[in-house]
Amino acid sequence: MSVTVATLGFPRIGPRRELKTELEAYWAGRSSAESLLATAARLRAANWAWQRDRGADVIPSNDFSLYDHVLDTSAMVGAIPPAYGWSGGAVDSATYFAMARGTQGESACAHGHASHASHAAGGVPAAEMTKWFDTNYHYLVPEFSADQVFRLSSTKPVDEYNEARAQGIETRPVLLGPVSYLLLGKARGGDFDPLTLLPRLLPVYVAVLRALADAGADWVQIDEPCLVLDLGDAARAAYGEAYARLHAALDGTRLMLATYFGALGDNLATALALPVDGLHIDLVRAPGQLQPVLDGARADLVLSLGVIDGRNVWRADLNAILAAIAPAVRSGRTLQLAPSCSLLHSPLDLDRETALEEDVRSWLAFAVQKIGELAILARALNAGAETVRGELDAASAAVASRRTSPRINNPAVRARVAEGVGQEGRATPFPVRQAAQREALGLPPFPTTTIGSFPQTQEVRQARAAQAKGALADEAYEAFLKEEIAAAIRWQEEAGLDVLVHGEFERNDMVQYFGERLSGFVFTRHGWVQSYGSRCVRPPIIYGDVARPAPMTVGWWDYAQSLTARPMKGMLTGPVTILNWSFVRDDQPREATCRQIAYAIRDEVVDLERAGAAVIQIDEAALREGLPLRRHDWQAYLDWAVACFRIASSGVADVTQIHTHMCYSEFNDIIAAIAAMDADVISIETARSKMELLDAFVGHRYPAEIGPGVYDIHSPREPSVEEMVALLRAAALRLDARQIWVNPDCGLKTRKWPEVRPAIASMVAAARTMRAG
Ligand code: GLN
Ligand code: ZN
Repeated sequence: MSVTVATLGFPRIGPRRELKTELEAYWAGRSSAESLLATAARLRAANWAWQRDRGADVIPSNDFSLYDHVLDTSAMVGAIPPAYGWSGGAVDSATYFAMARGTQGESACAHGHASHASHAAGGVPAAEMTKWFDTNYHYLVPEFSADQVFRLSSTKPVDEYNEARAQGIETRPVLLGPVSYLLLGKARGGDFDPLTLLPRLLPVYVAVLRALADAGADWVQIDEPCLVLDLGDAARAAYGEAYARLHAALDGTRLMLATYFGALGDNLATALALPVDGLHIDLVRAPGQLQPVLDGARADLVLSLGVIDGRNVWRADLNAILAAIAPAVRSGRTLQLAPSCSLLHSPLDLDRETALEEDVRSWLAFAVQKIGELAILARALNAGAETVRGELDAASAAVASRRTSPRINNPAVRARVAEGVGQEGRATPFPVRQAAQREALGLPPFPTTTIGSFPQTQEVRQARAAQAKGALADEAYEAFLKEEIAAAIRWQEEAGLDVLVHGEFERNDMVQYFGERLSGFVFTRHGWVQSYGSRCVRPPIIYGDVARPAPMTVGWWDYAQSLTARPMKGMLTGPVTILNWSFVRDDQPREATCRQIAYAIRDEVVDLERAGAAVIQIDEAALREGLPLRRHDWQAYLDWAVACFRIASSGVADVTQIHTHMCYSEFNDIIAAIAAMDADVISIETARSKMELLDAFVGHRYPAEIGPGVYDIHSPREPSVEEMVALLRAAALRLDARQIWVNPDCGLKTRKWPEVRPAIASMVAAARTMRAG
């Protein structure tokens, strides 16, 4: 039996982000549904052809989505909350996009990575959105009622299977498995366990699987990524029940159960007991599970080995992979070779990156190239390694060249990190620093500030684009930015804010801006990956040791401070956030890379202080989202993440006030780590939670100062003074009044000036009301 190459899923957005363009035109009413569907069909056709031509034998269908595959699953099973007014039948595109975006458009956090629900101003809000495991992809959270009825409400899986077939391509349709689907959803009202709905859900899966079988599919890929999470007994039992039921109902259709993003670990026995025909395992994240799987799996179980990293950008060492999977080959089992997970999380095609330097390019592989790597591995196993000796050795040579390249290795950086380990942290405890800072800054109680960015207007974005294209001279661009900063400062003084910001007009993105100024980072032109719906991000690639050749923000800060007597905050992105929103090198632990970034940021903090900054904010918007999937790995992550923040923030004197910002609201699990970061002030998102989340801080006796957001920047709605006073009073019930700062939930980059001006004026008025007692 020969080894085949399988893919589990492919990027949807298109080489030129065609899907994004088409979706946005459709939403804006500039283009028709027919045109959208035609574009989607063209993209699917191109994706199938691409995979076939690069050597995939097992090609997925139904991995494509107009917005999100979890939303597609909700549409498939008819899990549409009543608010969307769906009356049965096939789920139409108006209902589908209403769930995706709300009926009044969408909103996102200022940094563009949606880490939480989007809320419409009126109409029906979008479904809640959250991170897909530990990727930067976001899915729409299914919402179930206790009396939930499921019924087959979409023909998409069969339609797309037929569509590929008409093109001469036999595919293996992909479904999100029923147990993961329920586990990823939530109970409306929160008063029952979604898993109890399983018996009602399974008949719909049976119907879909039968329809696929009738259409001709003999294999179906059924994704159960929740099998790599910590599961309770109920979830494990649900797996047994679900697959026994599907197995009994199926007549000949074979299931490839796909797990990814980690090890099966303590769920291994559960997974191996399921009556399925194939099992896909992630051997990139969890290489150690190959042997236990070989030892425990039924002899006739087809194994799909996820050997190529589906969510990073590095070219693989193919000889090393052959050596690692030798025991599987010797076992005589039927094998498939696959990426570790869907290629959805990888940029599409390296061939388009013609501007990258040759050595860097030779180290990379994107989705299309990864299929080529799998094809070489399969040839080596089927026809003998000698038939592809050149390709195998070229791959190993590329990896070796990356390891030894002087562009990657910076001995000074390594020496500094090695020396500094264990010495992170401020010299004196918080109360001492607080006294020094109070005296130096002389701020009133309930001091007011903002989180950093001001509206990125059309003009700001146009000027940046023009400068990038060379259509606007650098001096003219700089003059333009200075104008924007000066205007923002005048306005903040008039508004009566206490601690000012320059507005971040010069920044395209809070990570990219820094990545472009640090060594060890490289940027692609077309390396987009889907974040959610039509939103794509182009993460920086960290390929080498990270250093800061020159100050990155001091010039702008200096100019801004020169225009005002009030304190101007220095504004930086923290090391953990830079790491978590980048493609990270795989030749050393993430922690080692993070420490290098931390020292680079530390240098910037010290330079800002030397230039005169009394307040410096280091944003860690992505610290929480870096938490590992398994609880037992959390503490190790938090330990080094906190250490990195402390490295970045501790090079300054007691009087220099370090702020941090986190735009989310769940702190219960990580409050000890947040406290250990030892920032002088933290601003967090609280406007929507009515300050209840402050209880985590109260319960932990969090000692430092806190700015609980009082202005929900995700909504265009303007908050009233009374509302904000009520929020601050609620905060004052929980905290010492002298601990409280007054600020919005996050940066104001996605808002418009006519919304921001009155909202901030009201916020200042609310702070004054509080001061008056
Ligand atoms: N300083 C950044 C801004 O205001 C912070 C953004 C964020 O944390 N998401 O845009
Ligand atoms: Zn934020």
